[in-house]
Amino acid sequence: MSLETYKQKRKFDKTPEPKGTVHAGAKKLAFVVQKHRATQLHYDFRLEVGGVLKSWAVPKGPVMDPAVRHMAIMVEDHPYEYRTFEGVIPNGNYGAGEVIVWDEGWYEPYMVKGYTERDMIKGLKAGHITFILHGKKLKGEFALVRLQRAGPKAWLFLKADDDYALKSDITKKDRSVRSGKKLEDLKHHE
Ligand code: MN
Repeated sequence: MSLETYKQKRKFDKTPEPKGTVHAGAKKLAFVVQKHRATQLHYDFRLEVGGVLKSWAVPKGPVMDPAVRHMAIMVEDHPYEYRTFEGVIPNGNYGAGEVIVWDEGWYEPYMVKGYTERDMIKGLKAGHITFILHGKKLKGEFALVRLQRAGPKAWLFLKADDDYALKSDITKKDRSVRSGKKLEDLKHHE
């Protein structure tokens, strides 16, 4: 796992984002969803795997409805420290715009009994991972599945049909789970 691409894209004297390091072994694996208004509004879905945050940009956001599938574009690995980042990336920087922590919590790798973080690494290569989220908004079983014909970065974000499934649009809950702020509450200064 490497943060090279993450670091290449950013000037850390110009952005408040963390420089970060590869994180060594927490007991519970972290996940976070950041709502980010860059050139286009999207949600960054991040799962801790191998000491970094594997990351997907989900333009329409996560779903709780098993009937709805949203595109998720895999982006560069982010440092573990990124999971708490909330603030404004100044103009002229990569991803300039406001970021809030839309959801956070921990997750369990899950496909069959005994499925582990190491299986997540295999699943990422194979293009299919399943996991149980323990967030404030996102709960239950989910999957990310790579689209075969759409290139290596195109995945689908899916909710499994379980007791936590909802028909409603979870993105209507639009406040930060850390600060209670909405994206609009963060001032984008020039
Ligand atoms: Mn983003």
